Amino acid sequence: MTGGSVLTIKRRLLLSHLAVILLGAGALGAYMYWAVSNQMLDAVAQRLLDNVRLVESALSLDDIRALGDRADSSAGDRIAGRLRAAVRLNADLASAYVVEPLGDSQRVLATSVADGRGGPDFLSFEEVGMLRGGIDRAVVSDIRSAASERAELTAFAPIGAAPHAYVVGVRLNADSLQRSLNLLRLSTLGAILFGVLLALVLSRLLAEQLQRRIRALGERCRALAAGEPSPTGQPPIGDEFDRVIADFDATAQRLREASAQREAALTALTQANAQLESRVEERTRAIEDATHQLKSEIENRLQVEALLAEAALTDGLTGLLNRRAMLEMLVQAVMASRGNGGFSMILADVDHFKHINDQHGHGIGDQVLAAVARELELLQGDNRHAARWGGEEFFILLPNTTLMEACRRAEELRVRIERMVTPVRGLRVTVSLGVAEIQPGEVLDDCLKRCDQALYRAKDAGRNAVVAARGNVFATI
Ligand code: GH3
Ligand code: MG
Ligand code: MG
Repeated sequence: MTGGSVLTIKRRLLLSHLAVILLGAGALGAYMYWAVSNQMLDAVAQRLLDNVRLVESALSLDDIRALGDRADSSAGDRIAGRLRAAVRLNADLASAYVVEPLGDSQRVLATSVADGRGGPDFLSFEEVGMLRGGIDRAVVSDIRSAASERAELTAFAPIGAAPHAYVVGVRLNADSLQRSLNLLRLSTLGAILFGVLLALVLSRLLAEQLQRRIRALGERCRALAAGEPSPTGQPPIGDEFDRVIADFDATAQRLREASAQREAALTALTQANAQLESRVEERTRAIEDATHQLKSEIENRLQVEALLAEAALTDGLTGLLNRRAMLEMLVQAVMASRGNGGFSMILADVDHFKHINDQHGHGIGDQVLAAVARELELLQGDNRHAARWGGEEFFILLPNTTLMEACRRAEELRVRIERMVTPVRGLRVTVSLGVAEIQPGEVLDDCLKRCDQALYRAKDAGRNAVVAARGNVFATI
């Protein structure tokens, strides 16, 4: 907002002062001019009336009568001399004369002018009009029209008592009246100009003072915005600006304090936040460590549990399933057999094992049991369908296998064991095997019994043999 078109405070003050002064001084000046000029004109008229009365009193009625009657020629000179003396003594008077009103016409008897007589045009139109109306007391012509028309002002006074045959007239010097009026006009104009000048000076002083205060306020605003302390300005003078500045300073102080408090709170909050974050990080790390530890503990436990579960189902010496695990499998197999596929089983018992123990020791006996177990695994391809049934007895489950195929596998096992390498040179190990196939609707116990009977038959048949239980009929393979 720059440029000359902006109405600054200075300009506004100047304009308002000018308007007030012009209106006020104009109105006051006009009124004063009107009042003073009226008073002056009234005073001039009054003075003229006084003058005409003075002149009238200085004239002798007898002289005038003599002059009017043309009875005394020296009377004219005396009257003219008195009239001239009156004009000479009073600078305001232009002329004085004595006139005899004669109805519609008038006769000028004597004047203060050089020849003492007035010509036919001596009287003005207005004077003639006044004289025709009759003069019975001192009167003055219309001073306002005389002033405006720059005409002469005339005052008349009757000479002597009624009936009034003669009238004395005095004329005011028109220039004198105009000079007085011009002086009045000039004074009024000068007063107005002085008022305008005073207005300019006052408005300028006031504007500069206002601008100084506004600048002080502006500097405070800038200091507040820049976060600097309030500048110390001029001493207060107790005006409205001082109150505004004081209020502003108080508000700025409160703002600074609030800002400092907010910053302190923000710093405390930031610190608390940082502490909280580091604590959360610590806790998170601790939780992660604990979770990791818990996970590995769970994994360990799961492994242990898996090992325990496996151990619960596995025979420790041979690594085959134990009897309990095999029984569970058999229960499943029986349930499955009620659908479609059947299954067969082989029960194998090491021949004269007691003798081996006795001959070579329990340790060798254990090694023999482990060697037999390996052969079972080799036959099956895994250790999931072979179990140590108890002591030196082994059990093989053959899912979806017929009795004939099972017999063939049993014979194969018998031969394998017969030929296997034993822990003791020269030691020959053989097994006897019973084979059975689950019959439709047969319970597991019955099938196991049949298989067991088949095994006994194999023992009875001289051992190292395979006997199949075809129903309750047993046949050596
Ligand atoms: P048969 O030909 O009639 O089966 O005669 P056998 O000697 O094999 O049968 P018996 O039932 O008379 O003997 C089995 C022996 O097996 C008795 C027992 O001490 C032994 N035995 C059982 N379990 C183990 C074991 O885990 N290790 C060892 N070394 N021997 C065992
Ligand atoms: Mg036995
Ligand atoms: Mg045996």
